[in-house]
Amino acid sequence: MSKKYGRYFTRLVTLLCLLFATAVFTIYANSLQGKLPSGNVKADVMPSDQLATETTVPTTATATETTPETTPEPTPTPEPDYVEPIMKEAWYNGYSDPRSVRAEIVVPDGSVTVLVNKYYTLTEDYEPDDLVNPKHAGEQKLRKEAAEAYEKMYDACKEATGQGIYLISGYRSFSLQKTLFTRSMNKRSLAFACKRNAYQGRSEHQLGLAMDISPEGSTVISDDFGKTKVGKWVDEHCHEYGFIRRFQGQWSDETGYDNEAWHYRYVGVELATYLTEHDMSLEAYYDKCQVKP
Ligand SMILES: [Zn+2]
Repeated sequence: MSKKYGRYFTRLVTLLCLLFATAVFTIYANSLQGKLPSGNVKADVMPSDQLATETTVPTTATATETTPETTPEPTPTPEPDYVEPIMKEAWYNGYSDPRSVRAEIVVPDGSVTVLVNKYYTLTEDYEPDDLVNPKHAGEQKLRKEAAEAYEKMYDACKEATGQGIYLISGYRSFSLQKTLFTRSMNKRSLAFACKRNAYQGRSEHQLGLAMDISPEGSTVISDDFGKTKVGKWVDEHCHEYGFIRRFQGQWSDETGYDNEAWHYRYVGVELATYLTEHDMSLEAYYDKCQVKP
């Protein structure tokens, strides 16, 4: 029996020794963990980071103060070019002199909805590459899409009223427009030219998308066109063919032009219908109305 108790005693002592050794190792390991370098390394770096930031900030601020445009932002589109005015701002009865306006240069991409007016100019060499001579137009030309729409509108007008339309003036070159504006200014007056004639580069006729029309059989541009049965029909139905009556009296402040009963502009059926339904000028649509002083 005493041998048996002796064996138990030995096992108990061995177990206690193991427990003690484990406890001692655990305490030692914990004491080491407090001295592990990783946490402290970060803690040491953080203040020096802050220090670096603190010293960098004033440097940047100083640089910004002296050269405010040293951080250019990426621009999605190229900076526009302009045709600078050749005289001081000038107005005649609410119509600006186009020569006194800084006009942004427009580079058409083939779209039929492009805005050209006193403030948006084409370059001297711009000419559409798809001009064609429609029927019922003498020698006049329009861009192909506008020409096809014009012919369709002619047919519908003829069927509805018994009389067709006639294209007096379609595409006009920069140089022809220059002749027309100069002649109007010299023969009529500068005030008249400013409300009725586009300056060279600023005419939708150079786009090949504008047309001056009369009832078939006449070759005269007339204020009375809107009073004729043909004029009334065209006014009411032109949007169905993609045209708008571009310069209407109630929009003079917006467009910069007086009422023109004979001048129509092709913009495509979708936009023409939208503008007609909303009784809106092209300038108002683009939020680019003439700005009076
Ligand atoms: Zn015209």
